Amino acid sequence: MFHYRKYILHCDSLPLPTLVEKYGTPLYLYSSETLRARYGVFQGAFKGTRHSVCYSVKANSNLSLMKLLARFGAGFDVVSGGELHRVSKAARGRLKQTVFSGVGKTQAEIDAALRASILLFNVESEGELELLAARATKLRRKARVAFRVNPDVPAETHPYISTGLREHKFGVAIADASRLYRQAARSKHIEVAGVSVHIGSQITDVAPFRATMERVAELVLELRQAGHDITYVDAGGGLGIDYEQQEGISEPIETFKRRASEYAKAVLEPLQGLNVHLLLEPGRALVAPAGVLVTRLLYRKQNGAKQFLITDAAMNDLLRPALYGAQHGIVPVTRDPGRSRETFDVVGPICETGDFLARDRVLTDAEPGELLALLDVGAYGMALASNYNTRPRAAEVLVEGRRAKLVRRRETFSDLLAPEG
Ligand SMILES: *Cc1c(COP(=O)(O)O)cnc(C)c1O
Repeated sequence: MFHYRKYILHCDSLPLPTLVEKYGTPLYLYSSETLRARYGVFQGAFKGTRHSVCYSVKANSNLSLMKLLARFGAGFDVVSGGELHRVSKAARGRLKQTVFSGVGKTQAEIDAALRASILLFNVESEGELELLAARATKLRRKARVAFRVNPDVPAETHPYISTGLREHKFGVAIADASRLYRQAARSKHIEVAGVSVHIGSQITDVAPFRATMERVAELVLELRQAGHDITYVDAGGGLGIDYEQQEGISEPIETFKRRASEYAKAVLEPLQGLNVHLLLEPGRALVAPAGVLVTRLLYRKQNGAKQFLITDAAMNDLLRPALYGAQHGIVPVTRDPGRSRETFDVVGPICETGDFLARDRVLTDAEPGELLALLDVGAYGMALASNYNTRPRAAEVLVEGRRAKLVRRRETFSDLLAPEG
């Protein structure tokens, strides 16, 4: 886990300055201990219920992290053919524990998933059902299907990551569900198997999850009465983390235990007596606190009343502050208790005013050359990174016990130019 020892930030048992010496900055650094602990807590919150954890690959799709999660027992939730390909590379045996979500699956992606014999297609429109039925017939495969229903439940989160309202592009209206299930059941190559939802991301109040599952439970009863064999309920992902927690570096595991168990209660209670196999698609809650982004301070400068810290990490490395106004904790890698605290904007070198990592943030004073760590970036950090400004993407390192493993090398300029011939 991330902690200070003698004023120096460590990842598990390794000091960050040593890792930076070897791997450079900007650097994504992951703690396998944190990941293992959080996976254990999450999955433990559902013990006693038939369930599978299908880790949402889009939160962090690094192959080594996926392998680690597969070793813990996870299946996967994918939203593209590329992510499906990653599952086949990281843990081929887990394709049969993989669910496929997404509003715009192409024929090629559907074919690949049929050939891989995945566990479940979360179908999001009538058109997709028709294409899936046609392709399954053509390839002589059986497709297990759940419809992703839109429960019309508001989730208190950033509007870009709220997905469960009628006006969003996701899912099918519950009112249309019985007709769609009837239609699905008519195809010989479709096996109606479940009901699926996903109402959004970074949701910290469990009430919307409960409200959603109440609607799902009603629908399951109604579908069973109509003769459908509903085995699976896929509750989606979305459990949030506390990005602004004050004490310590990572959320204490005890806090997560409490929150995971509250979440489990909200999901499970409405389903009581239905005897379903529950599928869960957590992303952020498992991996966000398992990662930090280490950056070196390049310059400081003052423009008018504003003080800027200019770092070698930028919005191409970590988009969340610019995209969602996300507030990631920022701490010095080497702590000096004698330093004052001042208000800074932390910005990268990219030619955009939107290129900031923090705004008007009270931070410990820092000098050029020193290292800072951005916290809780294990989810939607590297996954959202780009090459904007022809910036090579950062290296990723996974710490396992006393060993650090480079799990993605830093890109080179030739990597970037290669597709252009
Ligand atoms: C993004 C996504 C998830 C994971 O969401 P988190 O907030 O990271 O837990 C799960 N299921 C689906 C369908 C998604 O699109």
